Amino acid sequence: MKKIVFATNNAHKLSEIRSILGDEYEILSLRDINCDVDIPETASTLEGNAEIKVRYIKEHFGYDCFADDTGLEVDALNGAPGVFSARYAGPEHDSLKNMNLLLKNMSDKTDRKARFRTVIALLIDNQLTLMDGVVEGEITLQPQGDNGFGYDPIFSPEGFDVTFAQMDSSIKNKISHRARATEKLIEYLNQIK
Ligand code: IMP
Repeated sequence: MKKIVFATNNAHKLSEIRSILGDEYEILSLRDINCDVDIPETASTLEGNAEIKVRYIKEHFGYDCFADDTGLEVDALNGAPGVFSARYAGPEHDSLKNMNLLLKNMSDKTDRKARFRTVIALLIDNQLTLMDGVVEGEITLQPQGDNGFGYDPIFSPEGFDVTFAQMDSSIKNKISHRARATEKLIEYLNQIK
């Protein structure tokens, strides 16, 4: 079986991809390869940060690898928080503070259009491939719902009148930015296997 590193320790992301690709690829986490470095995400784009992660793994551990990076892009804020989504309100990665700051910055905006975008970088045999997945929607006026994480309580996807945090996770996971990017990754990996 081909070994490939997914540059994450997020258990949910790992089990999801392992259940789909389990027969063809052995998916290793950062922990599995004893990588305990917090790989610095210093690029100014999602693509750049995903690429930094896969190149770091290839250079220091020698494995083929894929990595993802996600941002919430709000039109009225010129694409912010974007690549800074996790640390919008500060380096502590506090979801509640991030959400409150976003709502504050949106308080005088009538254009509420936004999208989640996930970029996946894949480095196999020294060839870099980038894929993305997008879900369009809008920023609500107030937080609603308790499911999910991050900005879910204030993001309502197009075609629904509820937020991600009010949806069953099985529905969110079918239409989400991450699901769409992951579908492209799986299609690509299945093609080259
Ligand atoms: P990451 O690249 O997956 O770590 O995502 C970066 C940041 O984007 C997270 O810290 C969250 O704030 C936000 N984010 C990513 N995916 C989602 C999602 O599905 N719902 C809500 N927020 C998300």
